[in-house]
Amino acid sequence: MAQPEPVLSTRKLEGKVAIVTGGANGIGEATARVFADHGARAVVIVDIQDEKGQVVAESIGSQRCSYVYCDVSDEEQVKAMVDWTIQKYGQLDIMFSNAGIGSKSPQTILDLDISQFDRLFEVNVRGMAICVKHAARVMIERHIKGTIVCTASVIANNCRGSTNVTDYIMSKHAILGLVRSTSQQLGTYGIRVNSVSPAAVPTSRRTNEEIQKTFGPFTSLKDISLTVKHIADSVLFLISNDSAFVTGHDLVVDGGVISVPNLTIGEK
Ligand code: NAD
Repeated sequence: MAQPEPVLSTRKLEGKVAIVTGGANGIGEATARVFADHGARAVVIVDIQDEKGQVVAESIGSQRCSYVYCDVSDEEQVKAMVDWTIQKYGQLDIMFSNAGIGSKSPQTILDLDISQFDRLFEVNVRGMAICVKHAARVMIERHIKGTIVCTASVIANNCRGSTNVTDYIMSKHAILGLVRSTSQQLGTYGIRVNSVSPAAVPTSRRTNEEIQKTFGPFTSLKDISLTVKHIADSVLFLISNDSAFVTGHDLVVDGGVISVPNLTIGEK
């Protein structure tokens, strides 16, 4: 049986076609750039921020990068976007299901706003499930042994919970369940499913200073701050053949945070 070989080069995704949701900004943008740098034939940036998405796609290069508007919580839109990718590029090897939103405001269970809870779950949980479903659908139809990575969070894996953030933390725990179950179901088709769990990282919504205050004291690695590039490189590992025998795994990228005992901000 032919075995996938680790690629000891700087072009680990040569010829691959990838979708990156939430690719207009932050972790998704950085990962789209790393995919392109590693030789991906096409990267489809999926987001609801048209202007930003188009700017990122153009800066990567219109020959191998496209922007598509798609709200991941809407199954029809996701199905159409995945089918469009197949039509335009002929295949789909990689789904990085990353789009997500944070809590609108801190909330204990006592003041949980259910309409905010529902919207957060629509994007963070339903959206991830829909993206995994439709990526797997086309990979199986076309006999592609693809790879899927979802973005969870350190708060789903290493954190004991929070004193005042409820909905977001619940949503990220759900991603671990999604990845564990779908990795079992899709392994038979040669499709790997993993997650990446970043600690707090500066993106548009949070400064490094704020993050250092909350998480800094709990990391064991000092003199280094988490960047979106660190996360993108970890996603690359999970996506490429370097991790050919890894599935159902959650890769925590947190500098050694064991637990943040009193998480008092709305972690994104
Ligand atoms: P970000 O806000 O910089 O990027 C998220 C992107 O997702 C944005 O471009 C946004 O427009 C897009 N998006 C939002 N809702 C969408 C929808 N319905 N359909 C399509 N796109 C949508 O945030 P980020 O920090 O890069 O977050 C990316 C992922 O990482 C999220 O799942 C987030 O929960 C997770 N995460 C972030 C951190 C952090 O500290 N930044 C930590 C752990 C996990």
